[in-house]
Amino acid sequence: MKALVYNGPRNVSVSDVPEPRITKPADAIIQITRTNICGADLHMYEGRTDLEAGRVLGHENMGRVAEIGPAVEKRKVGDMVCVPFNVACGHCRNCERGRTNYCLVANPDPQVAGSAYGFADMGPWSGGQAELLLVPWADFNCLPLPEDATEKQNDYVMIADSFPTGYHATEMANVTPGDSVVIYGSGSVGLMTAYSAILKSAGEVMVVDRHPDRLALAEKIGATPINDSKGSPVDQVMEITGGRGADCGCECVGYQAHDPQGHEHPNATLNDLVRSVRFNGTIGVVGEFVPFDPGAPDEMARHGEIAFDFGQFWFRGQAMGTGQCPVKAYNRYLRDLIHRGKASPSFVVSHQLPLAHAPEGYRHFDARDSGWTKVILSPAA
Ligand code: ZN
Ligand code: ZN
Repeated sequence: MKALVYNGPRNVSVSDVPEPRITKPADAIIQITRTNICGADLHMYEGRTDLEAGRVLGHENMGRVAEIGPAVEKRKVGDMVCVPFNVACGHCRNCERGRTNYCLVANPDPQVAGSAYGFADMGPWSGGQAELLLVPWADFNCLPLPEDATEKQNDYVMIADSFPTGYHATEMANVTPGDSVVIYGSGSVGLMTAYSAILKSAGEVMVVDRHPDRLALAEKIGATPINDSKGSPVDQVMEITGGRGADCGCECVGYQAHDPQGHEHPNATLNDLVRSVRFNGTIGVVGEFVPFDPGAPDEMARHGEIAFDFGQFWFRGQAMGTGQCPVKAYNRYLRDLIHRGKASPSFVVSHQLPLAHAPEGYRHFDARDSGWTKVILSPAA
């Protein structure tokens, strides 16, 4: 079958790879109809992780069940399903508590909890930027979609990762009705975070970035865009919040944060957030930070260490939640919002391409070319 293969930094190709086979009774194989290119894929694409050459990328997947193992009871061939990016067993200590983001079984590395499709350090699972995807523990991992699945595919595919991840950022930041919320980053997760905060009736939602196309999308959904190339984002947040700072803050950029001139500062968004959020406020960090960064700008960052302003953070008595999203905690409910017409996260999608054009999609998305806000690949209709 055809799949998008990582060959090395900024080198991906659509190549022939072996088709997945059912080897465990609870496995299913999904024919992929939609699979997204994610900002997290760009960390791998740029060679900023230890991803091995030859791996197939793609962790935001949905499609049609093509084959099931003998132990699969709830899903049947032909069902349309969305697959959380977390691979989770459903039975371990963490899965039983709803923490499928830190499943203790799906990642064979005993030093690492948590697993994902087509992802550096997250287990051996192949990605879904391909014609077919193997999904283990299929009853647990395949969320069934309603009868409008085909018509609303570009909405439903967003619940594999970016929509629940944005929602999770607002949960960790403790967003409640009326709150002011500042979000650093207007990539698809930043925009989904703003969208989630608005769905939760936040009073004021501010989005910090510098790309005019992305800030325009933030404004379109009712957020206040803050352009950090036109002055200190902290000063702009203070001005909007009457000098108090936002009640809640969300980090949606990660370790490759850079200034408007393009210089990387992995601590920039975290330190700006601490100063943008009020005393005793709460911060949720879903932007990706890694323990090893082979392409880091300095020796400290190579080991995942950054100069975080802990003094200011402690002095302000803030709290912070971190880590990947447990997609299964939210995906069923976000699916129902989409089904009932109360949410339409596909507003971030700018391009839909056939799988064969995936390398071109990576090139434009990685270059942050204007208008390339979110790329969906459609290996099958
Ligand atoms: Zn993603
Ligand atoms: Zn588990």
